[in-house]
Amino acid sequence: MATLLIKNAAILITMDDHRREIPNGGLLIRDGFIEQVGPTADLPQAADEVLDLSGHLILPGLVNTHHHFYQTLTRAIPATQDANLFNWLKILYPIWARMNPDDIYISTQTALAELALSGCTTASDHLYLFPNGSRLDDEIAAAKEIGVRIQAARGSMSLGESQGGLPPDSVVDSEENILKDSQRLIQKYHDPKPGAFVQIVLAPCSPFSVSGELMKQSAKLAREYDVRLHTHLSETQDEEVFCLQKFGHRPAAYMQEVDWVGQDVWFAHAVYVNPDEVKSFAKHGCGVAHCPTSNMRLASGIAPIREYLAAGVKVSLGVDGSASNDGSHMLAEVRQAMLLARLKEGITGFSRSDPSPKGGGGTDSPLLKGEGAGVRSLMTAREALRLATRGGAAVLGRTDIGSLEPGKCADFFAINLNRLDYAGALHDPVAAVIFCQPVKVDYTVVGGKFVVKEGEVVTLDIDKLVERHNRAAKSLVEEK
Ligand SMILES: [Zn+2]
Repeated sequence: MATLLIKNAAILITMDDHRREIPNGGLLIRDGFIEQVGPTADLPQAADEVLDLSGHLILPGLVNTHHHFYQTLTRAIPATQDANLFNWLKILYPIWARMNPDDIYISTQTALAELALSGCTTASDHLYLFPNGSRLDDEIAAAKEIGVRIQAARGSMSLGESQGGLPPDSVVDSEENILKDSQRLIQKYHDPKPGAFVQIVLAPCSPFSVSGELMKQSAKLAREYDVRLHTHLSETQDEEVFCLQKFGHRPAAYMQEVDWVGQDVWFAHAVYVNPDEVKSFAKHGCGVAHCPTSNMRLASGIAPIREYLAAGVKVSLGVDGSASNDGSHMLAEVRQAMLLARLKEGITGFSRSDPSPKGGGGTDSPLLKGEGAGVRSLMTAREALRLATRGGAAVLGRTDIGSLEPGKCADFFAINLNRLDYAGALHDPVAAVIFCQPVKVDYTVVGGKFVVKEGEVVTLDIDKLVERHNRAAKSLVEEK
């Protein structure tokens, strides 16, 4: 029974239902799970391993609910820098078609190393191309080595250009193969238990790259095995036009027709939705992975996050693929979510009536309590952090992550507050982490094991990885 004691953190943010923030806090961890959370004085003083985190802030591990790890190989390609989604995809499909199993392995480790250094402890990845013998197994093996929890979404594309789809025929697969491989992956890897490091999700790529029949069959298979369903939806106006022309429905209504509604479904983006569709997501329990940086990068639009939250829709955050971000920094994504929600309110004037949790604390000064006029109508740093923790856990259907409470996975990260980036912002350290420029974290722990220690990834040789990654990216993009 291995125990790890974390003590003396300047402040420990639990993200529990009482929104407890514990000064001089700590955790007792046993075999990968949290046994006790509280002030250091209330915890046992000895354990197999003890780490003093004086001067650090501790937060629950961040949950990234939408990514395409392989795209770290195709960041910032000049021809794609200024393209909208459909043109961006058409330039990238032929490059991605040249990837091999090694490329999948290397890019997974690069993305997960970046994520871990930004506080992420669980990531869902959506891999929907399997060229030259690549398999989801390559990604899962790479994730196991670095030690970050993964919700591997077995993506698919079956509707090539000749069938009226967007991708070239060379990158699509037969629906028979897709379903067979999906079943194989669930049987081989899916772990439904609390503390699972690998779970499988079925994830046809988007309405414009698979048939309605594959959507229906994927839903049927996922429900037989009790695994979740994920796809891109309502990302751009082009997609809306495509769906109206091809299926006679808006994207959300098309999802209803192919049985993609329910607690077990989450959509990436969901930018172009009307008020009835927002209500329908709430009624059926469909989740939304909000990807603010990608939506800005591709000029897709601004998702109605405050409207979703007001209606009771589960909302989480995703960095999205690295060819449209072009990074995997979860704290940066939390900041973007907060800022973009504020911009949208400025433009549309949407205002909610429920009071938000207070910033600051521990003082009677109105200034330090965050009670300035007008502040209450904007998304707060704590609300944005909640999307990336509790929101992520809810969208992925996991009750074992997202907060620091007894019985939950020992997944957290810590940041040393004494740094240039936060100088002058320590009146409210939680807000400092989001309002100030995003930093790399000092510690990331997943299931009680260190993935990042003293600011360095300890499970991989990062210098070697970067060298391999750059070589792979060069040969992929420059190959003729
Ligand atoms: Zn995506």
